[in-house]
Amino acid sequence: MYSPTDLTDTWHSALTRAVRDVDTLFDRLHLPIEHKEPARRACELFPLMVTESYLARMIAGDWNDPLLRQVLPVGAEFLTQPGFTSDAVDDAAAHRAPGLLQKYTGRVLLIATGACAIHCRYCFRRSYPYGEGTRKLDDWEPALVEIEKDESIQEVILSGGDPLMLTDERLGAMLARLEKIEHLQRIRLHSRLPIVLPNRMTSGLIELLTASRLTPILVVHANHPQEIADDCANVLQKIVRSGVPTLNQSVLLRGVNDSADVLTELSERLVNLGVMPYYLHQLDHVTGTAHFEVDDTTAIAIVSQLRERLPGYAVPQLVRELPGELSKHPLLPQR
Ligand SMILES: *Cc1c(COP(=O)(O)O)cnc(C)c1O
Ligand code: SF4
Repeated sequence: MYSPTDLTDTWHSALTRAVRDVDTLFDRLHLPIEHKEPARRACELFPLMVTESYLARMIAGDWNDPLLRQVLPVGAEFLTQPGFTSDAVDDAAAHRAPGLLQKYTGRVLLIATGACAIHCRYCFRRSYPYGEGTRKLDDWEPALVEIEKDESIQEVILSGGDPLMLTDERLGAMLARLEKIEHLQRIRLHSRLPIVLPNRMTSGLIELLTASRLTPILVVHANHPQEIADDCANVLQKIVRSGVPTLNQSVLLRGVNDSADVLTELSERLVNLGVMPYYLHQLDHVTGTAHFEVDDTTAIAIVSQLRERLPGYAVPQLVRELPGELSKHPLLPQR
């Protein structure tokens, strides 16, 4: 039986035990069986995947559980909606080399792997043409050469999928290669694994980051305060205390976190651990996710309430990704 405090468990074995079938999910959480068939069908659009650690933070029998909502395949994913497409953020236009995207000055995004430990139903990834296979270091060479040639690049963002799905060995090799590029100053990781697979954050991994010549910055992804509990809360505190600056980004999701109360509590739990709220993203318009959409007027009203309730540093910036802009587009003026 899974126990969040079982330190002998490795993250690899935790990944192999992730729940990938609808029957197990419905049995474990005592969900109403009439929703099973639509869930099975929606798995054909994007397979179900959820780690035991994340599942353990859900409340059995609660059909509206905010963590369940993020991973449960539903019939609404078959609905089409004008404006929702498969390349909603126009990644094709930002492509500089295989796996290398640049939209903004001074920083590039490297797709380290297409794999994730959890499948979030609202994700752009559901329609992105990733191969799941692990890449060899050589496969990144054209991207690394491109970074090497461009002295205006100070920061490399490892993204995906989830870059922490790579083994420490691979990450170490990648980091060593990046450290040799003299104009690089920072390495940023965008990862949901500290939230959904906390035992991925081994001491070895943290040492890899803190020992680097490059300044590490970790951006995690949690959407609801119920995620910031148990093994996840412990590991966030461990990372922060190791000295790695740690930020959180969330996606505003109808039925999950579209309330000032929920987002206030999320920010409080994060800052109490030393994790700073960074972005609150408006949903990318990806096919099959329209049921998660929160309109801009509601979004702005929610964040305005956060500003009245929280210290300035605890209020995330409400942004939308718009093609062709020089930064993420803020929906509210900075205070
Ligand atoms: C979001 C994003 C970044 C990071 O933007 P910041 O504002 O620096 O967090 C960088 N590159 C791409 C392509 C992005 O989509
Ligand atoms: S890329 Fe992030 S948001 Fe998308 S499925 Fe993977 S973990 Fe979830």
